[in-house]
Parts: sequence; structure tokens; C-alpha cells
Amino acid sequence: MADFKYLIVGGGMTAAAAVAGIREVDHDGSIGIIGTEAHPPYNRPPLTKALWKGDPLESIWRKIEGPGITMHAGRTVQKLDAPNKRVTDDQGASHGYTKLLLATGCTPRRLPFPDEVQKQLIYYRTLDDYERLRAQTQHGQRFAIIGGGFIGSELGASLTMNGKQVVMIFPDAAIGGRMYPPELATFLNGYYREKGVEILSGAKVTGAELRDGKLVLKVEGEQGAREITADGVIAGIGVVPNVTLAEAAGLKVDNGIRVNSDLQTSDPNIYAAGDVASFHNPALNQWMRVEHEDNANTMGGMAGNAMAGCTVSYDHLPLFYSDLFDLGYEAIGEVDARLQMVADWKTPFREGVVYYLRDERVRGALLWNVWGQVDAARALIASPGPHRPENLKGRLPA
Ligand code: NAP
Repeated sequence: MADFKYLIVGGGMTAAAAVAGIREVDHDGSIGIIGTEAHPPYNRPPLTKALWKGDPLESIWRKIEGPGITMHAGRTVQKLDAPNKRVTDDQGASHGYTKLLLATGCTPRRLPFPDEVQKQLIYYRTLDDYERLRAQTQHGQRFAIIGGGFIGSELGASLTMNGKQVVMIFPDAAIGGRMYPPELATFLNGYYREKGVEILSGAKVTGAELRDGKLVLKVEGEQGAREITADGVIAGIGVVPNVTLAEAAGLKVDNGIRVNSDLQTSDPNIYAAGDVASFHNPALNQWMRVEHEDNANTMGGMAGNAMAGCTVSYDHLPLFYSDLFDLGYEAIGEVDARLQMVADWKTPFREGVVYYLRDERVRGALLWNVWGQVDAARALIASPGPHRPENLKGRLPA
């Protein structure tokens, strides 16, 4: 197998951004990409949002073709031999590199159900998962979603907007309860219910079985014990970073693969970026691992630049965003309901800013139906303060 000047393990958004980043600097150095999925890189956010609003499937593909670029889709790297600068994939092929990028992403957490249930349940993350769910919606009407985080809240809205009956089951008191102020999270429960979603909050799925071809979930919670029968069940209960290769190769791993501001791991010929990378952000002065699109794209691009010989410093504070029916937001920094929260509503729960504070510093901002304020929010988070709640109202236009 050919050796590559640049080899990327992982075939997602981070990989696509890295290819572009390499090509900004090195126009013809050979690039190899090895990804587990059978597809070339694509944008993941539309799988829960835009594709359900009518965007065509063709719109998700990322452009990675060009001279000197080889995509090996449907292969998983199983071994990283860092001293000899080689990897081995699951088809037994060995690939050499000069510079390696680990963009291995994350894997969905799973529930302890029997095999026959696992086969039916969709741990939603990939294009294949989207296509399976799309096929189920052709004949199925009732869908259960386990989890009230990003996947649960976005797919709950999307399926409902596509005329499906949705029941959401999650342990928290309200949708997004770990991020939003309690009154906003409670509003969201009511808002989803108004839209026709059945919300089982404070609830756990304690078992599941197949009955007459349908999945039956056993649910225990605030509303008592009951069974939910559905034509399709989706789980979005969080993800874990894919660090096995890095760990086995002796790279430093601590909630993700540790990288310095040059995006190098503890081996200077190996870089890491995207969901799997743990980096230090100077504005927040903390180690972070971010599982969102902006981080994949910005960090992937910069890792590509760095692999091709540029000096970089990853000090970007990534944003994230979501669409929940006709509500939407952008957010940045530590958006964590355990912090002190200051809400500045122009119209309650429809338009406003929530500031997140610790030790008189703004650590994060939720820009709820407020647009074009991300850079101002970044500057506020980077500023030394002291920030007091009474001085924050109106600080970012609402
Ligand atoms: P997530 O946002 O971390 O949410 C996980 C949810 O699952 C939480 O509501 C959690 O409840 C719940 N949960 C945990 N264990 C559970 C269990 N045993 N039974 C039922 N519920 C359980 O993760 P996700 O929604 O699965 O998303 C996966 C990844 O995709 C994340 O990295 C996310 O950032 C990314 N993503 C991002 C976007 C975006 O940026 N807009 C969109 C889609 C996906 P508790 O909080 O109460 O534990």
C-alpha cells in the first residue's frame, strides 16, 4: 500500500477540513484518508435538521477530491505503530505516513438491551442511521426517542414536523436541563408538548423487547411505570471519544487525545483534532473537548495547516448551535446550568441572551434567537471582568 505524506484516520468533517487545510499550504503532497463509514466525508448536522426540512441529500457531501488525495472508505485502522510511522487497517493493509492526523471522533453510548433489540434500535450518528430512520418513517408512525440532549431535541422536532408521533424519554427534569436555566428548560418541555411531542421527563428506560415486530420499551419515572410501543426507537444518550488507537500507541489521553496549541499529540508527528481531541482554551483557561461542527471544521483546518508546516495556535473558542422547531440559538463557552446564570430576555424564552458566570467572569453565552453576536460573546468571555450580573443586561444586544 502507498505511503502518504499526510495520513488522516477518520473520515468525517474534521478530516475534510484537514484536507482543505493541507491543500492551502501544500498543493501536491499525497494525502490518504481512512474512514470506517462506507461514505466519503459529509456534514453531520443536517442529519438531524436540514435533511428533515427538505434539503437534498446531495447537499451534505464535503469536497475532498483532487490530485494526490486517496479516500479509503469502509476501513478501520486497528493498529498505530508510531515509531515506524505506519498504521494497519482491518483489511490487513499497512499505510505509512510522514504526518498523521487522528480525527477518530466518537461512538454513541449504548444501552444494555438484548441483541434482537440492539438490531432494531438506532444509536443515531451517521448517514446510514439517517437512511435507516428515513426508511422507517415511510411506513412507521410512532417513534420513541431515548435522550433529551442534542440528538433527542433536534430529531424530536424534526420527526414531529414530518407528521410523526414522537415520545421523548429522558432522565432529566426538562429538555436541555443541563444547559439552560430551569425556567427555559421547563418552557421547552411545554413548547414541545404544544407541538404534539409526548415528553416523559425524569424517566428511565429499564428494559426493551421485540413484540409482534415492534419495539416495546419499559419506562419508569415520575409518571409511574409504563410500556411504550413504537415503530422505531432512536437513542441519543451521549458519545464517548474513540481513543483506543491513541492509548495503545502510548499517546497522552485524558478525556480525549491531548494536543498542544500546535494540535500535536505527545508524538510530534501525530496530530489530533475534532471531537476526539482535548485542547487547552486560553480564554477559559481550561482543557476542553468539544463535540460540535465549528470545532471539527476550525480545528481540522488548522491541524491540516500545521501538518503542512505552518505555525498555528489553536486558541479558537468554538460555537455550537441548534434548531428546535422554530426556535434556534448559537452558544459559546461553558453553557452549563450549574453556573450562575443571568437571563436578559427581550421576549421571554423567544429572544434573549443568557450569560453564564463563575467568579465574576463570563464563561459562556446562550444567544437565543439572537444572531450575529458570537464574536462579541467571545470577546466578553476573553475579557478579565469583573462581570457582575447587574452590569450584563444589554451587554450583548438582545
Ligand atoms: P448529549 O447531547 O450529550 O445528550 C445525551 C442525553 O441522553 C441527555 O439528555 C442525557 O440525560 C440522556 N441520557 C444519558 N443516559 C441516558 C439513559 N441511560 N437513558 C436515557 N437518557 C439518557 O448527546 P446526544 O444527544 O446523544 O448527541 C451526541 C453527540 O452529537 C454529542 O456530542 C452532541 O454534541 C452531538 N450533536 C451536536 C449537535 C449540535 O451541535 N447541534 C446536534 C446533534 C448532535 P442527562 O443529561 O439527564 O444525563
